[in-house]
Amino acid sequence: MTETETRTHHDGKQQIRRAVAETSSVEDVFDDTYKEQEGPKPPTMLVWRNIILMSVLHVAALYGLVLLPSASVSTLAWTAVCYLISALGVTAGAHRLWSHRSYKASFPLRVFLALANSMAFQNDIYEWARDHRVHHKYSETDADPHNATRGFFFAHIGWLMVRKHPDVIEKGKKLELSDLKADKVVMFQRRHYKLSVVILCFAVPMFVPWYFWGESLSVAYFVPGFLRYAVMLNATWLVNSAAHIWGNRPYDKTINPRENLIVALSAIGEGFHNYHHTFPFDYATSEFGCKLNLTTAFIDTMCFLGLAKDPKRVSKEVITARVQRTGEGSHKSG
Ligand SMILES: [Zn+2]
Ligand SMILES: [Zn+2]
Repeated sequence: MTETETRTHHDGKQQIRRAVAETSSVEDVFDDTYKEQEGPKPPTMLVWRNIILMSVLHVAALYGLVLLPSASVSTLAWTAVCYLISALGVTAGAHRLWSHRSYKASFPLRVFLALANSMAFQNDIYEWARDHRVHHKYSETDADPHNATRGFFFAHIGWLMVRKHPDVIEKGKKLELSDLKADKVVMFQRRHYKLSVVILCFAVPMFVPWYFWGESLSVAYFVPGFLRYAVMLNATWLVNSAAHIWGNRPYDKTINPRENLIVALSAIGEGFHNYHHTFPFDYATSEFGCKLNLTTAFIDTMCFLGLAKDPKRVSKEVITARVQRTGEGSHKSG
């Protein structure tokens, strides 16, 4: 590139960012003014409590896997229902509604999504959305909570096993989050988070198969409980790890997030990550609507039923212009 081309490219990028900032009312727009501190990185401090809890959870999930053949068909169906509900609590709830404000949800829908979010047990909505906005704003830097340049393991689960980098804490504190503080459902869930997790992530998934169709307590405890919880956690973490490392970059080759179909499948529509980081305010997190995207189908259904409204979308013209300007040439039209 000549110097003029470089400047035009840079100006174009700034313009897009300004346009995105105008469309997005939340603090999720990439901030290219942040610079990592020079010199040696602070030492990694292990959080043993979390390491032990994560290890116990995964051992319990493995035991659930051993018990899987002895589960009844009803219990397996119930496990799938619990998986879907808890996934929606993260994807349609903490992510697309509360982190990005990509659509508006009525009070009953917000209550459902908050309950579903407690079933997913991935930190309360307020904390999840704060960390996620910091992730978008400072992606792939020291201030990104699950900075994927530190490798797959760190971006996947390691970030929960060590103390946060000081810049993550500092940048998180600087976000206003006034929309989250003003949402009574979010703050209610935060106040009663532990109790809601005990009831929704563990007690309800176990109680239903045991009480209604006489499933054994151990299968009810380890299959729809621990196994479903651990699989759901890993599916979500793949968005931070795999979808930041493997896949195409049809929309913006200057950023790390990628289009990853396996992640799209496991995280019910959240694998179109190059698109999502390019246009974080789009409610579908993908150019292709409901395709491999159950969360978008869910939000569409909620809009149809009058429980949600104002889903934000990027126009075809803007997408095409962006693909031509910053894409790597791997764009497909469907
Ligand atoms: Zn990401
Ligand atoms: Zn996001």
